[in-house]
Amino acid sequence: MKRLPVYDALVIGAGISGSNIASRLQAAGMTCLLLEAGHWFNRHTYPRNERDSNASLFWGGGMELNTSTTMAILRPKVVGGGSIVNQALLDEFDGSAFDSWRAQSGIDFLRPEVFAPVYEQIRKDIPNEKLDHDFDNGNARIFHEGLTACGYETASLTRAQRGCRFEEGNDCIECLGGCRLDSKQSTPVAVLPKGFEHGLQLLADCEVTQIVPGRDVQRVYAQHPAYGALRFEAKRIVLASGAIGNSKLLLGSAGFSEKLPMLGQNFWTHPQYMMFGVYDKPVHAWKGPMQSWKTSDPRFRAKGFKLENVFAPPVAVSMLLPALGRELARDMRKLDSLASIEVAVRDVTPGRITRAANGGVTIYKELGEEEKRRVDAGKDIIRETFASTGAKRVIDGKFGIGLHLMGGLCLNQNASGGCIAPDFRLHDFPGIWCADSSSFPTAPGINPSLTIMALARLATTSILESA
Ligand SMILES: Cc1cc2nc3c(=O)[nH]c(=O)nc-3n(C[C@H](O)[C@H](O)[C@H](O)COP(=O)(O)OP(=O)(O)OC[C@H]3O[C@@H](n4cnc5c(N)ncnc54)[C@H](O)[C@@H]3O)c2cc1C
Repeated sequence: MKRLPVYDALVIGAGISGSNIASRLQAAGMTCLLLEAGHWFNRHTYPRNERDSNASLFWGGGMELNTSTTMAILRPKVVGGGSIVNQALLDEFDGSAFDSWRAQSGIDFLRPEVFAPVYEQIRKDIPNEKLDHDFDNGNARIFHEGLTACGYETASLTRAQRGCRFEEGNDCIECLGGCRLDSKQSTPVAVLPKGFEHGLQLLADCEVTQIVPGRDVQRVYAQHPAYGALRFEAKRIVLASGAIGNSKLLLGSAGFSEKLPMLGQNFWTHPQYMMFGVYDKPVHAWKGPMQSWKTSDPRFRAKGFKLENVFAPPVAVSMLLPALGRELARDMRKLDSLASIEVAVRDVTPGRITRAANGGVTIYKELGEEEKRRVDAGKDIIRETFASTGAKRVIDGKFGIGLHLMGGLCLNQNASGGCIAPDFRLHDFPGIWCADSSSFPTAPGINPSLTIMALARLATTSILESA
């Protein structure tokens, strides 16, 4: 077993939170090591077909499932985490999201006025732009024109991107497997280089398997395909392996479950369901910018859902279409003429993550009656939108998708309500910190990345002040 120096901070998980915290701590003068279970790709090496992307960039060889196999959970496993595979949509939380966070956590600083200046600074630091509607594809036009005709409000989306070169015929759908132009501002493009400039170390393909907390020194055990079993030591550990990753790690390490009764609880996913409209003309939903419009109708927010102007690559579409056999082949032959709108709900029925006997995780996540009502309300509006734009048939996607994986640890004033204290340390474990998606006390119903970056900045300040 190799032994390495004692770092100021070991950051576990090089996703959105981990990349930001590690880079900022290193830039502030700490020695940091960032450990990532996934592979380190770049724009030249990302897998270039959907099947290989799924297998190489996600845990579970592409997806994990809830216990009733009704929801696919997509959990990134790659340097950059979700920032490599996501749509890079940056949305600010509103008063309703922060109200529910404060009510659940009892933590007073979770307020719009605290986050507003942090959001503003992130928008200055990370290139982001509104999508140019000159390049809208058929799916975007159906979404915008249909909803407008039905009397609902839409708005342009802002994405962390620069120079997508749509005029050259680039299709953003490819970016779901890693952006080959580096126009998407993933953390390896926009964040990690600043850390590396200051000497940040990153070890990819290194899965942390256990944490042993200590008074002055924390230990981490990990496995690497080339280096074998590794042991690292640091003054502090920052957990940044996401909602499922952090729960799995702590549930598999001795001593945490006893002191953190809420470990693995309050797991949220913003469950999403895709509906397809079948048209008698080409829609080419994969062309150009993906998802250039969003719903901004306050009635949808009040009812706990939003509609998204998305499409998916062909393997995913074939999985989401409910037909089988010959009927599925018939629907897939219409791929050119399919439009798709997704309903995503703000979930209120908590899920739960436990450790499985084989060392993996078991994910309990079901829709409650309230979420079912929210899904149905969203689907009614999607049907209306497709009808108003001349769809010949509507296909009702019944398989759920979980992309926004949140909670499991949760910020809370007290250990009886969540694992993370207001200063971002675990209750009862002063050497272990966490501010990633697992810290979300409730489901905000809003894209989470921007707030994950904001929490990362607040946590970095807290770590530096405590040093
Ligand atoms: C397809 C898709 C589209 C999305 N679109 C958007 C969007 O447009 N806007 C938005 O705001 N959000 C979007 N999201 C959600 C967003 O990407 C996530 O909420 C965000 O990435 C979570 O950040 P995180 O830092 O908590 O975890 P992640 O970014 O998931 O990073 C966690 C990292 O930890 C690593 N890890 C886990 N366990 C271990 C271990 N034991 N040892 C070492 N490393 C480990 C993982 O491999 C992973 O790389 C999308 C997600 C998906 C999947």
